[in-house]
Amino acid sequence: MKYYVLFGPPGAGKGTQATAMVEKYNLHHISTGALLRKEIAAGTELGLQAKSLIEKGCLVPDEVVEGMIESEFKSVKGVDGFLLDGFPRTLPQAEALDAILAKNAEEVTATVSIMIPDAMIMERIKGRALKEGRADDASEDVINNRIATYHNQTEPLIEYYRKSEKYHEIDGIGTIEEVRDRIFNVMNKF
Ligand code: AMP
Repeated sequence: MKYYVLFGPPGAGKGTQATAMVEKYNLHHISTGALLRKEIAAGTELGLQAKSLIEKGCLVPDEVVEGMIESEFKSVKGVDGFLLDGFPRTLPQAEALDAILAKNAEEVTATVSIMIPDAMIMERIKGRALKEGRADDASEDVINNRIATYHNQTEPLIEYYRKSEKYHEIDGIGTIEEVRDRIFNVMNKF
């Protein structure tokens, strides 16, 4: 099985590119953000807890998303691998992922990182807000907090994956097709 981590700041185009990646490589797409939004829409206890954190641009507790990932790995069959989108987002999550995979003698195949400069993040998210209507895309303060959270808590993962030579950075500036082809060039190696 292949285990790809799709990495990058908010608004880098992870969700958009994930669609093409899962189709081409027969992967199951796991977006922790989308799973959390589903819980919120269904009004579950977990959704209620996650809602206020997400709406402030903060992360939900590590254990919550780690549990979601593990149960998706167990329940999904018939694919050649998984595409993790928006997970891991903290060092403890990355370590938990390694531990979950190691139980089955598996490991992260590669981290595909889509990079855009901070100056583009706001513009991209505002464009998405008009189309998708996500609550956490609506306010500049919340977007700024998500950018800060990304730099403080998520960016250290770059070093984590670089050390194990699993880090592959892709320029996220360009058309959807240009960025997609850069991603495919990396994934074709695995
Ligand atoms: P996303 O759809 O990936 O942008 O995620 C939307 C929001 O869900 C984030 O801003 C976080 O509040 C929460 N979230 C998603 N994935 C995680 C994660 N791996 N760890 C903690 N919080 C997360």
